[in-house]
Amino acid sequence: MTERKDELAANLARVQERIAAACAAAGRPREDVTLIVVTKTYPAADVRMLADLGVRHVAENRDQDAAPKAAECSDLPLSWHFVGQLQTNKVRSVVGYADVVQSVDRSRLVTALSKEAVRAERELGCLIQVALDAGVSGRGERGGVAPEGIGELADRIASAEGLRLDGLMTVAPLTGEYAGRQQAAFERLMDLSTYLRRTHPAATMVSAGMSADLEQAVAAGATHVRVGTAVLGVRPRLG
Ligand SMILES: *Cc1c(COP(=O)(O)O)cnc(C)c1O
Repeated sequence: MTERKDELAANLARVQERIAAACAAAGRPREDVTLIVVTKTYPAADVRMLADLGVRHVAENRDQDAAPKAAECSDLPLSWHFVGQLQTNKVRSVVGYADVVQSVDRSRLVTALSKEAVRAERELGCLIQVALDAGVSGRGERGGVAPEGIGELADRIASAEGLRLDGLMTVAPLTGEYAGRQQAAFERLMDLSTYLRRTHPAATMVSAGMSADLEQAVAAGATHVRVGTAVLGVRPRLG
């Protein structure tokens, strides 16, 4: 193995141990939690090594970086998750490679995603990104819809051609009542998920937890954790 692959293998093993320990502590089976490795800012060569090391889910947050990377890695058995704020003019490109868009937070985006999914003859999984720090605008600083907006958006996604409502996603807020209280934030997301599943029982995905707080997410009941830094290293630039 190359030095980089050794490094990725060691980091991945540590993250897998953390997930396993968190599942054990929560009395949850390990298979309940899926690891998504966030490969943003890192090259396609790293994605290839990760696939070789058994990773099956990767995530990206900028279409400009993700589109060429996904194209270079199209031979690999990977599911691609889009987790960034998404402008409608990038939707056609994203629908070309993404299996799941985790950052659906407004009706206009649902309309655009549906149109492009139909055009591409694909079924696209959608998670509603919830902003637990949403202000009076009803939207979060880093995207996401306020909890009150989930119901309407869920109905729109569920009835949109080409889209599949898979569940909810959040990023632990840095401000507001949940600042510094990751576990409380993730528990709130779980409550919202329970409520959503009364009307949309198949929307079972709960995507929460990153390198610093995956334990709290698993304890709260997350089904998917999104881990970047702890696998790939500290990113060379903000992303
Ligand atoms: C970058 C990113 C992550 C991963 O964060 P790390 O702290 O590097 O693990 C997870 N989710 C989203 C939405 C991100 O943008």
